[in-house]
Amino acid sequence: MTLRLFDSLTREKRVFTPTDPRRVTLYVCGPTVYNRAHIGNFRPVIVFDTLFRLLRHTYGVDSVVYARNYTDIEDKIIAAARDSGQSIAALTRRYAGIYADDAAAVNALPPSLTPWATEHVGDMIAMIGQLVRRGHAYVSSGGVYFHVPGMPDYGQLSGRRPGDNEAGARVAIDAEKRDPADFALWKFAKPDEPEEAIWDSPWGRGRPGWHIECSAMAARHLGQTIDIHGGGIDLQFPHHENEIAQSECAHGAQMARFWMHNGFLDVQGEKMSKSLGNVVLLADLLRDWDGEVIRFAMLSGHYRAPLDWTESLLEQARTTLSRIYGALRRVWSAQGAQPADRAVLAALQDDLNTPMALAEVSRLASDANAAADRGDEAAMAQARADLLAAGALLGVLTRTPEAWEQGGDADEKARIDGLVQARLDARMAKDWAAADRIRDQLRDEGIEIMDSAGGSTWRRS
Ligand code: AMP
Ligand code: ZN
Repeated sequence: MTLRLFDSLTREKRVFTPTDPRRVTLYVCGPTVYNRAHIGNFRPVIVFDTLFRLLRHTYGVDSVVYARNYTDIEDKIIAAARDSGQSIAALTRRYAGIYADDAAAVNALPPSLTPWATEHVGDMIAMIGQLVRRGHAYVSSGGVYFHVPGMPDYGQLSGRRPGDNEAGARVAIDAEKRDPADFALWKFAKPDEPEEAIWDSPWGRGRPGWHIECSAMAARHLGQTIDIHGGGIDLQFPHHENEIAQSECAHGAQMARFWMHNGFLDVQGEKMSKSLGNVVLLADLLRDWDGEVIRFAMLSGHYRAPLDWTESLLEQARTTLSRIYGALRRVWSAQGAQPADRAVLAALQDDLNTPMALAEVSRLASDANAAADRGDEAAMAQARADLLAAGALLGVLTRTPEAWEQGGDADEKARIDGLVQARLDARMAKDWAAADRIRDQLRDEGIEIMDSAGGSTWRRS
């Protein structure tokens, strides 16, 4: 079966084949690390993690290189470090750590590489030098700029022509630029900026622009032409357009063979964003919802469509996922089959059609229930294997059904395990009243004890 992906540059779904199937390359623009990311920022994390899983499944775990950078130098970072009295390094390392923890909470695998912008300033300077030598960049009073009109192909990804971004607005007269569409490759240091934010360069002390960071890091780690470049739709213009301009003018080679963009996560029809003040932090959601439920909700929409983030979307995800775990529990002991169902894979191979893939997982859960109803051991084992294989592709069903049904945090689990054991001890001692008291207490908390020959287990009812 073939993998088809929608390429934002050619605006069509095309068959994807990597340049080298032993080294499939994926680059996704990562976060600017100066505050906590909101749940909208985790849409690309989850979407491209699902693609990463699919590519690893297709080409082999060791044959896919996924790089997601950390932008750890930027105006907002400098301001946040100053406001909080920390060094830039301390601030960015702290928020990158939180980001990585948050990503892990929604079952995103760590990327193969997480390059830091500040560790690649030398690569950026070399690339800017190449652009200057080739006549694509010039030095002015504020820094080094890329000259957009010097690239006839500029604007193909977004369909915008140079100057479009100023349409309707008055073009600010900017003495530093030869053309309003030109953008900064290198920004000269301003008088009050911290040493930590300043590097030497052949043109003067300063720091790189945002766009050149990704161009340099992608080339350094993945090569001049990468297989897939991804990010949120808001990055298409100007960020990705400028990445293409820089990389292609510096290298004379195509930057990425496929461009993929996820749609927005919306709240009541509006993009979730800090500037609109409608953000929800993952840490806050995780207090009420399991990370796997959040991931399931995120994958319930197609990645290119806008996704409206609501309480009922999460409730639905939790209900469906619980039902699937319930089916998995019924076939859990039936082991030994090899996965055979191709429907989930086929859905993902069709431009990452995760809503279809999740519908197929529900169908597999129905198969599991039907097999368990019939007591058909072979069919139960088959359903178990297929459910787990589908879960591995989608990043769900990562726990045992028992662990899922118990939910909660480790302390809470330990407390309940202790009570269940105390009840067993009471029964051993024939203290029926004490045993019943514990069972009733747990029942009041919504916890059901299930006794069997092997002992007692429990679940949330
Ligand atoms: P930023 O830190 O703003 O550069 O965003 C990091 C990533 O999250 C980028 O790929 C953005 O396109 C993406 N992103 C930001 N807000 C949203 C949103 N509301 N929905 C989906 N993706 C978003
Ligand atoms: Zn980027």
